[in-house]
Amino acid sequence: MQGSQDAHFNPPIVLAIDDVPANLDVLVEHLHREAIELTVALSGEEGLELADALRPDLILLDVMMPGMDGFEVCRRLKANPELADIPVLFLTAVNEEIEIERGFALGAVDFVHKPFSIPILKARMNNHLALKRKSDQLARLARTDGLTGVANRRHFDEALDSEWLRARRHARPLSLILVDVDHFKRYNDHYGHAEGDVCLKRVAGALDTCIRRPGDVLARFGGEEFVALLPDTPEEAAVAIAEHMRDAVCQLQIDHADSSACRHVTISIGIATHVPLTDARAIDLVAAADQCLYGAKRGGRNRVVAGQDEENCR
Ligand SMILES: [Mg+2]
Repeated sequence: MQGSQDAHFNPPIVLAIDDVPANLDVLVEHLHREAIELTVALSGEEGLELADALRPDLILLDVMMPGMDGFEVCRRLKANPELADIPVLFLTAVNEEIEIERGFALGAVDFVHKPFSIPILKARMNNHLALKRKSDQLARLARTDGLTGVANRRHFDEALDSEWLRARRHARPLSLILVDVDHFKRYNDHYGHAEGDVCLKRVAGALDTCIRRPGDVLARFGGEEFVALLPDTPEEAAVAIAEHMRDAVCQLQIDHADSSACRHVTISIGIATHVPLTDARAIDLVAAADQCLYGAKRGGRNRVVAGQDEENCR
């Protein structure tokens, strides 16, 4: 489930970029006992490639390098939203105030002067790794629903905006699955809110097993509603996933004495798939899925209704 990846069991990745192999050898020799995974690059270009591929937790960056210097590497890292949060610690033989100021202005978190003291480098490195770990934890919490562990509404809204733009740029279908637990108010009234929470957690867990591709987002939309955002997914594929979800929740066989349809907890699902046009809005996709969800409720619940079947969506 999203948010459960555990930073404690993976050692942090540190990327060291320096054009002089002997300098990197010194780092490898003195840091190999630290609880980190150290990777090295011999040029700015190689460093940027590795940063993109590895997403390190800290970058130790030499300032003076032929070709692309450390300042330029730092500027490019900070200009890339995917890499901008990686702390950069400059290693420099330069001790000019103006150069150090420039490095901080470019977004560096710290400087260590060459020839550096290994204990001081380790202490600074560990401080920045600890801060990075905390900010990663906060970022994870900020996008996770506290009850169910799936993504929260805020994260969904951000993902919808960016996937909508991406789908429009590439003229690709974006599918949205809206899920509502049937007669959930009655469930709460009958079993109490504590059991209601347990039910939502189990439903979220079952839905999560149906969402497998890395780019897909499953989120709690609010109350007993969940939403799945499926980039580059045509309607038929979204319907197949939705049927899988409906089945997964049925398989839980959670007793629901006060359910009209059957004696177990079920879900209703609405699906919309759009290839975004220039003047269309992302909220239209949500509204279209909501209409279909309404159709599924009206059609008797425990069913999937997709946008193509316009009749069912009105
Ligand atoms: Mg150098």
